[in-house]
Amino acid sequence: MRAAAARKRSCLPWRFRLSGAARMMGLLSTAMTSFPTPPAHLPPPAHSPPPAHLPPPAHPAPRAVVIEDEPALAALVASYLTRDGFDVRRELDGPSGLAAITEHRPDVIVLDVALPGMDGIEVARRARIVTDAYIIMLTARAEEADVLIGLSVGADDYMTKPFSPRELTARVRTLLRRPRAVIGGGTMPGEPTMTFGSLTIDAAGREVAVAGRQVELTRTEFDLLAALASAPRRVFTRRALIEAAWGADWAADEHLVDVHLLHVRRKLGDTASEQRFIRTVRGVGYRLGTGDSADGGG
Ligand code: CA
Repeated sequence: MRAAAARKRSCLPWRFRLSGAARMMGLLSTAMTSFPTPPAHLPPPAHSPPPAHLPPPAHPAPRAVVIEDEPALAALVASYLTRDGFDVRRELDGPSGLAAITEHRPDVIVLDVALPGMDGIEVARRARIVTDAYIIMLTARAEEADVLIGLSVGADDYMTKPFSPRELTARVRTLLRRPRAVIGGGTMPGEPTMTFGSLTIDAAGREVAVAGRQVELTRTEFDLLAALASAPRRVFTRRALIEAAWGADWAADEHLVDVHLLHVRRKLGDTASEQRFIRTVRGVGYRLGTGDSADGGG
């Protein structure tokens, strides 16, 4: 009941929620003049304006799926996300979590690593086939292996238990401010594509190819590569890459940059010793390589 009431409330345009004090301050008259008058052919409202007849909001609530087998923790995370305006689905095991991802089409997935039925790593791997949602893994151990494995299946970030749900929602908000990938979205012919040797980066279509062969990058991987490509001669510190890809207020572990770029490098067909596209600048950070030209062809 409470949830339904809250939903109904949130459907009301903001001008109906103005307090009496705000009206007295004359804000309403400002609002009225800035809203176009309704078309004359609409029938007059019967009682108070019926919310059901309102057009759908321009920005529907973002969706989240929380997959966590500790019910109390799942409920806590879900409540924070709900308070943040998310439409949240909560699942307690891997297979139902995966089904919820397919049905609910979330923008964000909060995914525990150790789950009954199917572990979080397998859920992430399969989820990546159907969604480009941001995936934040929850892990009980800070062990690097978990992190590395989790990220290699396309997770964007991780949090080690115990964590602050407030920090989790802050990270989710930051993730959602980043530009969205266009799933299956082709680009119009003639849109600019950046080329570095055999590497092509189509910023508009968010597509990357090496020697004409398409390379599948996660959103985070793409954002980091695009940041490097935005200033090909510049050496980026890890902090600068985090700011370019995530925003200045992002509190991510700088080691995440190394892990993501390791995956990008591998997907582009490079190794630590053959760095055609992503160069490590010792003691500083990274810069984009000039592609095949460094190797004399290719
Ligand atoms: Ca668990």
